[in-house]
Amino acid sequence: MTYDRLVCANCAAPVSEGRCRVCRASRERMQEQGLFAGLNPAMLIALMVILVAALALLAHQAV
Ligand SMILES: [Zn+2]
Repeated sequence: MTYDRLVCANCAAPVSEGRCRVCRASRERMQEQGLFAGLNPAMLIALMVILVAALALLAHQAV
Protein backbone atom coordinates (compact mmCIF):
# COMPACT_ATOMS: atom_id res chain seq x y z
CA MET A 1 0.00 0.00 0.00
CA THR A 2 1.50 3.32 -1.06
CA TYR A 3 0.51 6.47 0.74
CA ASP A 4 1.89 8.71 -2.00
CA ARG A 5 -1.36 8.64 -3.94
CA LEU A 6 -3.61 8.75 -0.91
CA VAL A 7 -5.77 11.88 -0.70
CA CYS A 8 -6.72 13.27 2.69
CA ALA A 9 -10.41 13.34 3.54
CA ASN A 10 -9.89 16.44 5.64
CA CYS A 11 -7.98 18.80 3.32
CA ALA A 12 -8.27 16.94 -0.03
CA ALA A 13 -4.51 17.24 -0.54
CA PRO A 14 -2.13 14.30 -0.93
CA VAL A 15 -1.40 12.80 2.47
CA SER A 16 2.30 12.68 1.62
CA GLU A 17 2.38 16.50 1.64
CA GLY A 18 1.22 16.58 5.25
CA ARG A 19 -0.79 19.79 4.97
CA CYS A 20 -3.05 19.21 7.95
CA ARG A 21 -2.98 17.32 11.23
CA VAL A 22 -4.96 14.40 9.79
CA CYS A 23 -2.44 14.09 6.95
CA ARG A 24 0.53 14.06 9.27
CA ALA A 25 -1.09 11.54 11.63
CA SER A 26 -1.90 9.07 8.86
CA ARG A 27 1.49 9.62 7.24
CA GLU A 28 3.26 8.84 10.50
CA ARG A 29 1.12 5.77 11.03
CA MET A 30 1.93 4.45 7.57
CA GLN A 31 5.61 5.14 7.99
CA GLU A 32 5.52 3.15 11.21
CA GLN A 33 3.80 0.30 9.43
CA GLY A 34 6.44 0.41 6.71
CA LEU A 35 9.13 0.35 9.35
CA PHE A 36 7.64 -2.73 11.02
CA ALA A 37 7.16 -4.41 7.65
CA GLY A 38 10.86 -3.90 6.96
CA LEU A 39 11.86 -4.92 10.46
CA ASN A 40 9.93 -8.17 10.77
CA PRO A 41 11.72 -10.23 8.09
CA ALA A 42 15.08 -9.24 9.56
CA MET A 43 13.87 -10.21 13.03
CA LEU A 44 12.60 -13.54 11.71
CA ILE A 45 15.99 -14.26 10.15
CA ALA A 46 17.73 -13.33 13.40
CA LEU A 47 15.42 -15.64 15.34
CA MET A 48 16.08 -18.46 12.89
CA VAL A 49 19.84 -17.96 13.24
CA ILE A 50 19.53 -18.12 17.03
CA LEU A 51 17.35 -21.23 16.78
CA VAL A 52 19.81 -23.00 14.47
CA ALA A 53 22.71 -22.04 16.72
CA ALA A 54 20.87 -23.41 19.76
CA LEU A 55 20.06 -26.65 17.92
CA ALA A 56 23.68 -26.98 16.81
CA LEU A 57 24.81 -26.45 20.39
CA LEU A 58 22.36 -29.09 21.66
CA ALA A 59 23.42 -31.55 18.96
CA HIS A 60 27.06 -30.92 19.85
CA GLN A 61 26.40 -31.59 23.53
CA ALA A 62 24.43 -34.75 22.79
CA VAL A 63 27.33 -36.31 20.90
ZN1 LIG B 1 -5.09 16.56 5.27
